Amino acid sequence: MAAYRFEESQLDPFISAVAKRYHLFAPVRTDAVRFQEVSDGEAIDLSENSYLPIKEFFFAKQHVLFAFHGANLTLPIDLVEPRVFFGVRRCDLNALAHQDLVFMQEPGDPHYAQRREASVLIGYHCLEPPSPHCFCSSMNLQDCQDLMFVPREGYFLVEEGSERGKRLIHDFPRYFRETEEALREEDRRTPGADGLATTDIAALYDEEGWGERARDCLSCGACTVLCPTCYCYEIHDEVELADVHRGSRNRCWSSCQLKEFSRVAGDQCFRESRSDRFRHRIYHQLEYFRERYNVTLCTGCGRCISYCPTRIDWVDMINRMVASAS
Ligand code: SF4
Ligand code: SF4
Repeated sequence: MAAYRFEESQLDPFISAVAKRYHLFAPVRTDAVRFQEVSDGEAIDLSENSYLPIKEFFFAKQHVLFAFHGANLTLPIDLVEPRVFFGVRRCDLNALAHQDLVFMQEPGDPHYAQRREASVLIGYHCLEPPSPHCFCSSMNLQDCQDLMFVPREGYFLVEEGSERGKRLIHDFPRYFRETEEALREEDRRTPGADGLATTDIAALYDEEGWGERARDCLSCGACTVLCPTCYCYEIHDEVELADVHRGSRNRCWSSCQLKEFSRVAGDQCFRESRSDRFRHRIYHQLEYFRERYNVTLCTGCGRCISYCPTRIDWVDMINRMVASAS
C-alpha cells in the first residue's frame, strides 16, 4: 500500500476542500465529542474518541424497511449522497467491518449497503489510549479503512487502504506527497491498550465471578446503544388507521439487555435475570459471533465500561476469573 506525507498545517485547508465536494463528518466537541457534518477543520476535536460511534450513520436507529398498500410493496431506500468520515478510530473502523458481516452478506440489507457504498472512511490512529478503558490491542484488529492518518511530529503519515482511498488522494493531490516511509507494526496497535487477559472465555461460563458485579446491572441498555458493534433490533408494523391496507414495516434498535427482547410467545422469557442478560452480552461479543463469523465482535473501544451508570468493568471481571482459575 502506498504511503504519503501530509503536513499537519494542511489539515484545515484539506478539510475545507473535501467538504466542498462531499458531506464531511468528523468528531466535534459539543456537550461531548460527536461526529457531525463540518465545513472546515476548526471545530474538529481529535483529543478523545467520540461518545457515540458512527454506527447510526449506517445502521439507522429507526428505519422503514418497506411500505405496503394491499399486496403492493415498495422499498423506500433513501439515497445517501457521497460522504467522507474523517477521524474514525481503529476500534470503530473494525466495528463497522463486523457490522458488514451481518448486513452485507447475502441476502444483504440494501439500506445499509447503500450507505456503505456512499462512504469513504478516513482513520485516525491513536498513539495512546484515549480512555483508561480502551483495550483494542487485545482484540487483533485489522486494517479496514480507506485511508489511515498516523500522527507524526508536525505531519501525518497516511496509508492507502483501498481503491476508494486511493481515488480520494487522486482527487486532492496537492495535500499528499508520496514517501518511502512505511507504517511499522507498532503503528497498527496502541501501546497500553491491551488490558483484557483473554478473549477465550468458553470455560468461564459457570464461574461465580459473573454474579459479583453483574448483579449491579440496571438493564438500562446504555452499553448496547453506545457499542459500535451491537446490532440487536426489533421489527414492528404500522398501519394507517384511515386505511388499514396501507402501512409500513419498521426496524428500530433494541438491546439484549432489555427483558422484553428475550420474551417470546406464551410469555416465556429465556434470560430472566439481569445478570444472565449481562453475561449473554459478553458471550455474544467474545464467543458467539466468533463461532459464526470467525472474528470477535467486540473491538475494545471501552465505551460500555466508561459510560455504564454503575461502572461495571467486565474486562476486570474476566481478568479476575482468569487469574483465580489458573
Ligand atoms: S451493563 Fe451497565 S450500561 Fe449495560 S445495561 Fe447494565 S447497567 Fe446499563
Ligand atoms: S462490547 Fe464494549 S468495549 Fe466492546 S466494542 Fe462494544 S462498547 Fe466497545
